[in-house]
Parts: sequence; C-alpha cells; structure tokens
Amino acid sequence: MFILKGISQLEKAITKAKKIRPRVEFDCFGRYRVSGSKGYYTVVCRKDERGYKTVSCTCKGAERGLVCYHSVAALSLHIGLARRQATA
Ligand SMILES: [Zn+2]
Repeated sequence: MFILKGISQLEKAITKAKKIRPRVEFDCFGRYRVSGSKGYYTVVCRKDERGYKTVSCTCKGAERGLVCYHSVAALSLHIGLARRQATA
C-alpha cells in the first residue's frame, strides 16, 4: 500500500502501464481488478481516516510499498470516475 501524494511518484509506473496495457475491470467504486503476469490483482483506492488517499494492490511489489503499474492503471480509471461523480 502507498499514499498518493502526487503524480511524480507515479511516473515510472505510468510508463510501464502504457507499455503493458493491463486490462482493468471495474468491481465497484474504488475497487478494481487489474490483469498482471500471474492473473488478476485487486486494487483498492480509498481515503483513510486521516484523509490520505491510499492505494493498495494484492501484488508482491505493492506489499513492499512500491507503486506498481496495476495501481496506476486502476487509478486512471478511478480518477475519471471520481471526477464524473463530482460533476454529476
Ligand atoms: Zn500491483
């Protein structure tokens, strides 16, 4: 799990996601399934009790606090949905 602070921390993972183009499946708002090398990973985007935006993924990299391309792929969908909700 990592705390989302800004776009700069995501850059490397964005580049990787653009190259790999994982499939992102919508589960419910804030919860997505992203295809990876060993099947699907679940990515959860939420605000914790202190108001931090946190992103967690079930892959090995994210377990160690790394920003993985699954998280970024899910985030791009999540941000789009959140924006649509805000303007609806
Ligand atoms: Zn991941």
